[in-house]
Amino acid sequence: MEFKNTLAFAQNLDQQDGLKHYREQFHFPKVNGKEVIYFTGNSLGLQPKLAKNYVDEIMADWAQLAVEGHFYAEKPWWDYHERLAEPLGRVVGARPEEVSVMNTLTVNLHLLMVSFYRPTATRFKILCEEKAFPSDQYMLQSQLRFHGLDPDEALVTVNKRKGEHFWRTEDILEKIEALGDELALVLMGGVNYYNGQVLEMAPITQAAKKAGAFVGWDLAHAVGNVSLQLHEWDVDFAAWCSYKYMNSGPGNASGIFVHERHLDREDIPRFEGWWGTKKETRFLMKPYFEPIATADAWQLSNPPILSLAPYLASLQLFEEVGMAALIQKRDLITAYLEFILTEVDKEVDSTFEIITPEDRGCQLSVFLHGEGRSLFEFLMKNGVITDWREPNVIRLAPAPFYCSFEDMYRFGQLLKKGIQSK
Ligand SMILES: *Cc1c(COP(=O)(O)O)cnc(C)c1O
Repeated sequence: MEFKNTLAFAQNLDQQDGLKHYREQFHFPKVNGKEVIYFTGNSLGLQPKLAKNYVDEIMADWAQLAVEGHFYAEKPWWDYHERLAEPLGRVVGARPEEVSVMNTLTVNLHLLMVSFYRPTATRFKILCEEKAFPSDQYMLQSQLRFHGLDPDEALVTVNKRKGEHFWRTEDILEKIEALGDELALVLMGGVNYYNGQVLEMAPITQAAKKAGAFVGWDLAHAVGNVSLQLHEWDVDFAAWCSYKYMNSGPGNASGIFVHERHLDREDIPRFEGWWGTKKETRFLMKPYFEPIATADAWQLSNPPILSLAPYLASLQLFEEVGMAALIQKRDLITAYLEFILTEVDKEVDSTFEIITPEDRGCQLSVFLHGEGRSLFEFLMKNGVITDWREPNVIRLAPAPFYCSFEDMYRFGQLLKKGIQSK
């Protein structure tokens, strides 16, 4: 499609957008009385209007039923989390029994490493990407120290090539092969938070398995953003937070995936709690652990229902729309944003360098050469919510659920004005 940098063209794209009505199903913050242009759905997704109904329902059940709500609420609490497994399974390409919802992301990665990082004297190395998200680095380093290992020796990173802003799959595969039977675990971000790159999860998983290692993916920036086939790819485990593209609310519960072949096994080390035991016998309060035959075996506690409620509301929207339609719009709106950036680039003195490679989801990370923080402040003051990473990178995520093509056009105009009025 040949794009144009005009309001009429952008509005025409909106007219043809099959998802355009979903915008009205989200709350937008306002600046100067106008809805903002929201580019930070990769950090905190907007609130679905439906979320409040779901939370209100729990509050009402709690008021009216108190403890009886566990069994007699409209959606009983004792197995409330199970309602999320099927729709989430569709989002990540997993069977419902392979998915559970619990805790928060970093906590879950730690818990899953208890099961899937089992170093021996010879096979103890972990491979991750250079400059992984800080929490993941701290998590990996502290796990290694917990096992009495030195992170400097046991934590291996795949680096970008000099002068390049992205990882090459061939470099990752080569590293895996070189580590061979020293490699215990590959744990990487499926979509990188900084440059927006989507790693080739299928071949990387395959190579790691061939080397005899376990493979886990941190899907914080991938879930609800890119196509995932965790079961088919034969991934061992994965975890994600739900407050980014999944729009579940600040700090909300994390999801986990554990491959079918690891389920219903008593020989896997796990940190265990009563919510991971078989439902049929849970309330007999037995003194020993019998794992549920699903990923719920990794649950420790009875889950926070008030948190799961908005997550379930959001999943209802994902059910309605489906990942295929979201991805289709994502590709078009991201391409349009890229076009707008290129057009503005021609009209101003500064140079934009998009560091996000072709393998991308909905985020474009842009180096604004010659610009500083004042541009970012101008944008924020004028209703463009984006984020700024020093020295001068902005990350723009036009989430397809609620961003419009007109937003992209208006952003381009503001960007140009911000640079020219400096
Ligand atoms: C957002 C994000 C996190 C956040 O972790 P929490 O435990 O939810 O605070 C972790 N890892 C990655 C890669 C992220 O993008």
